[in-house]
Amino acid sequence: MGRRKSKRKPPPKRKAIQPLDQQFNCPFCNHEKSCEVKMDKSRNSARITCRVCLEDYQTTINFLSEPIDVYNDWVDACEYVNKAN
Ligand SMILES: [Zn+2]
Repeated sequence: MGRRKSKRKPPPKRKAIQPLDQQFNCPFCNHEKSCEVKMDKSRNSARITCRVCLEDYQTTINFLSEPIDVYNDWVDACEYVNKAN
């Protein structure tokens, strides 16, 4: 009878490993691209760490969040702290 079309496999998911997009300038030590974001979407949390001065920051994310959002949150938090001091 009619040939069954074999179901095409869905395209492989892009692995979210794009190191260049996840490295940002540090607001503390001003090193370029020294800050790395780790997104943990299953826990709705993300952490950004500077590998030069070891400052880090953790924030909550949602499934739409991008590493740049985490970074922006961090910068905002830094500015807030600076004003409070
Ligand atoms: Zn730093």
